[in-house]
Amino acid sequence: MINVKRTIDNLKNNGFDVQYFETKEEVRKALLEEIPADSSVGFGGSITVKDLNIYEDLKERGNKVYWHWKAGENESRKEILKNAANADIFISSTNAITESGRLVNIDATCNRITGIIYGHEKVFIVAGTNKIARNSEEALIRIKTIVAPRNAKRLGVDTPCVETGKCMNCNSPERICRATLIIDKQPWGNPITIFLVNEELGY
Ligand code: SF4
Repeated sequence: MINVKRTIDNLKNNGFDVQYFETKEEVRKALLEEIPADSSVGFGGSITVKDLNIYEDLKERGNKVYWHWKAGENESRKEILKNAANADIFISSTNAITESGRLVNIDATCNRITGIIYGHEKVFIVAGTNKIARNSEEALIRIKTIVAPRNAKRLGVDTPCVETGKCMNCNSPERICRATLIIDKQPWGNPITIFLVNEELGY
């Protein structure tokens, strides 16, 4: 049985700031309060964050927002990714959190893992308690049996996990597992706050 309190204690012990919420609506409000109206905000790809509608809220409020998932027809995805990398604040989710207080992610473009680990005044990670795994090994299993196959299907790439629902450690040109990042402790100079929500968010 996953122990949420132990996870929060260990995340804090590893130097992360943690805020705990019962609902995603509470997180939405908290993010709007935490983010100054004149800050620029970059986004990593995340179903959890997309479902919060925080991109739309911030845009409407006048923040400069950069998310390649929201690129218009005539906008350069590459330019948006560059602006997101240089934004004051970066918002993302994480593929998994371990009970020992680590963040585990596998990425394809790798804008998400670089955005989480370096280059911003603040990083906000939003995650449901469904993302908690007992340890790093189980976190990686979670990613390779749930997260990556579902993402591959969503993206419509040609990888075996789309059919099998589990990782075949493929050598496909469209393989989405390109780099793995495990953050053990709060990185220097890149403060990460984890908004942990007692709901199933994303996958
Ligand atoms: S390595 Fe390939 S088969 Fe395994 S999860 Fe990633 S994309 Fe799917």
